[in-house]
Amino acid sequence: MAWKRQGMLWRDMGSHLPTVLALLAPLATAVNATDTSSPPAEIRHLARTILAEQVAIPSTFDLGTAEAARRLAERFLAAGLAAEDVTLLAQTEEKVNLIVRLRGRGPAKPVLFLTHLDVVDVDPDEWTVEPFALTERDGYFYGRGTLDIKCEVADLAANLIRLHREGFTPNRDILVAFTADEEAGSAETNGVRFLLDQHRELLDVAWVINTDAGGGQIEQGRRMRLPVQTAEKVYLSFEVEARGAGGHSSMPDDDNAVLRLAAGLARLADFRFPARLNPTTRAFFGRLAEQHPGQLRDDLLAASLSPADPEAIERLSSNPFYNATLRTTCAATMLAASRAENALPVQATATLQCRLLPGDDPAEVRTALEERIADPLIRVTATREPVLSEPSPLDPEIFKAVEAIAAEMWPQVPVLPVMDVWSTDGAQLRRAGLPVYGVMGLFFDIHDNRSHGADERILVDAFYESVEFMYRLMKRLTAGG
Ligand SMILES: [Zn+2]
Repeated sequence: MAWKRQGMLWRDMGSHLPTVLALLAPLATAVNATDTSSPPAEIRHLARTILAEQVAIPSTFDLGTAEAARRLAERFLAAGLAAEDVTLLAQTEEKVNLIVRLRGRGPAKPVLFLTHLDVVDVDPDEWTVEPFALTERDGYFYGRGTLDIKCEVADLAANLIRLHREGFTPNRDILVAFTADEEAGSAETNGVRFLLDQHRELLDVAWVINTDAGGGQIEQGRRMRLPVQTAEKVYLSFEVEARGAGGHSSMPDDDNAVLRLAAGLARLADFRFPARLNPTTRAFFGRLAEQHPGQLRDDLLAASLSPADPEAIERLSSNPFYNATLRTTCAATMLAASRAENALPVQATATLQCRLLPGDDPAEVRTALEERIADPLIRVTATREPVLSEPSPLDPEIFKAVEAIAAEMWPQVPVLPVMDVWSTDGAQLRRAGLPVYGVMGLFFDIHDNRSHGADERILVDAFYESVEFMYRLMKRLTAGG
């Protein structure tokens, strides 16, 4: 999941003011949570068993999710869920999704909990433990997918079984989707895309809780904050192209595509799109201000107001993470030109990788780039259709539920809305008109983020707490009525 790179970005934020971390200490709780934060022993055992079973299945892009989905389905049936409520949806023989329904009463639309079954492939030589096996060592669970995101597969599965065993009847259906191919990054095989295209009726829900976003943040051994992702930036790349006549490099003329392109790109060096806040980022900066001292606190607070103070915005923009939260960004990432060192280029191209604020118009972004490049002989073209998605509303029902549970389990850890500066499956669902909230109760050290990497791991205690958190969230969102 792209969002797992948040560790790096938040670290950038920390290094912006090295003294911040020490000063934060009194504002957040130590890693010890409240006594009631762990589920009963038999649920801990169940969650761990499912986690071990799932980690042992190498559900990579090549091998697919069929086995992972089938094993889960067998568990639900063995636990007594009705066959009609446990639905395997195959895209191909290897790419299989699983939808499980816990039936509720009442007319309200279901709530959908979302996670994915696939994992990024491994290089076993880089691992000190077996990647496709669950190893418990020194307070950690190791194994591919422990953090991204088989922890949530096990969490959601164990809680469906727990709620079923307890005879809990929700006031609306609880749906859980375990999907294929989130990691591959291609629309063709993505499980959520498949569900939207082929089984749209299943997604007629009030809210989507995307467990593949959000996640509790530990820094310096302390729980710092619990983000709820309500928006994300839009991925869009442009090709910037200059053309030339070509010919032999022994007889160059003034018309050189490489130099023309380079001059155009150089004009982008100090170009910035205007800062623009939305309800998510305003609330985000406002909550973050509470955790910082001095000038940074004042600037974060100023950014949360409307209109925002331009000088505060300017100071915040020197930090790459805040800058990316404030505005659309474009980064030059690739270059290509002549195929031979002794041939003048017929064509020189650069790739500009942009991340648009939700609501920004791709055509206007392109026009702004062209105007800045200011050369009619350089063309700027989008390389593919972006998945445009508006932020989800800051629904008080969702935030109240998450805040109440956080207050029970981790007193003083603030819940705050975030706009991810990368993209997740949430974008497609938001585009389809569904409100999506990235919520995960698993806390992890954002400076020790091994998602997609070697020796991927999670804290054992944090895992069990995340299972208890999700149990309470499922119940709170579907109780009463
Ligand atoms: Zn993921």
